[in-house]
Amino acid sequence: MTFASLGLCSPLLLAVRELGYEAPTPVQRAAIPAILAGCDLWASAQTGSGKTAAFALPILELLSRAQAPHPRPVRALVVVPTRELAVQIGQAIERYARDLPEPPKTCVAVGGVSINPQMMALGGGADLVVGTPGRLLDLVEQNALDLASVQMLVLDEADRLLALGFADELSRLLALLPSERQCLLFSATFPPKVTRFAEQLLREPVRINVDAGAAPSADVLTQRVIEIDAGDRTRLLQHLLRTDAWPQLLVFVASRDGADEVTLQLARAGVSVAALHSHLTQAARTQALSDFKARRIQVLVATDLAARGLDIAQLPAVVNYDLPRSAMDYVHRIGRTGRAGDKGVAVSFVSAATAAHFRLIEKRHQLSLEREQVAGLTPKELTVPPRDVHGGVKGKRKSKKDKLREAAARAESSAGDGKKS
Ligand code: AMP
Repeated sequence: MTFASLGLCSPLLLAVRELGYEAPTPVQRAAIPAILAGCDLWASAQTGSGKTAAFALPILELLSRAQAPHPRPVRALVVVPTRELAVQIGQAIERYARDLPEPPKTCVAVGGVSINPQMMALGGGADLVVGTPGRLLDLVEQNALDLASVQMLVLDEADRLLALGFADELSRLLALLPSERQCLLFSATFPPKVTRFAEQLLREPVRINVDAGAAPSADVLTQRVIEIDAGDRTRLLQHLLRTDAWPQLLVFVASRDGADEVTLQLARAGVSVAALHSHLTQAARTQALSDFKARRIQVLVATDLAARGLDIAQLPAVVNYDLPRSAMDYVHRIGRTGRAGDKGVAVSFVSAATAAHFRLIEKRHQLSLEREQVAGLTPKELTVPPRDVHGGVKGKRKSKKDKLREAAARAESSAGDGKKS
């Protein structure tokens, strides 16, 4: 199947050709005709599946088919959980739209930066707005944004939106939209809360499922596990940077302090590195991400704030310096590499204390990965012998420490969301 057979106009076909997309991905093949036909969409799409183009291309097609009214009312609204994702989607839309004779006016509305430029940008109206819920509501309250003419609504990463506690903001936003509208809901997972939400929102949706939640296949992504004492992890990281010669590397850590600490240690060792977490100012976050995307720095050390949705082209490697909390987070993290046909490697550091937790992650994904050790850095702490993961393994039932860690992670996520201004 080709893009041309999906019913897109030639300027959009030209843009995807210029971007080097040879054929539509599975989610694009299913979503684009359904959206062009005016259907609601219930899509569970794996991260890196090309879902942005799956909704952006048909929205641009539909917007460009109709004459833009004057003044421009907002006709399409994309709601996302994080500022970074909003900016990334805004940029993708601009790239897809650049050959259209009259590219729709697109505005990005996110918190963490001054509201005034966004109010100014919306001044003459806009065809398409991408934003985080809190800032969108702020703009409505300031009379800078009117959502009464929205014809197409996209909720991207719906599971994350609800997990971050955006349910109230979403209800308030939905109440501002006309009842006749097309709604497209994308989510990596469908826990009961998201399913209930989708059922209330969508009308006879076309359902698309492109294997959400599955670990990427082995021919695209190599998963490695290295046993290491916790105190030796930064040395191991330096060793891997030397031996594996990755041009770029995304390192995941569990906490903001951890991110700062690892960043400092790598910087002292002469590595070009930046941290990305929610305690940084929005300007510092944007700078770190754009430096990394432009390959001005080699290593980005991030908390899970960076684990979802972000698209970093041709990222060759990801390291789990700290293991993710859940098996699903593992998929989201390693999904940052091996995207859209590029090959990638994901390395997890496992210590005596985290060995059982990693076995649980493997079990959930039916993996059985070989353990590596690195000469000169072999673990000295006693490695917990493999145990039957059915019984008594830490992580089956949440300990008090686990609950505290989860609460901290939630606080981290919500501090990094689009609520703040
Ligand atoms: P997304 O899942 O939307 O974050 O997209 C992941 C990456 O895939 C982005 O870098 C897109 O530019 C790229 N991409 C999207 N569609 C295609 C396609 N049909 N062929 C090749 N790459 C694509």
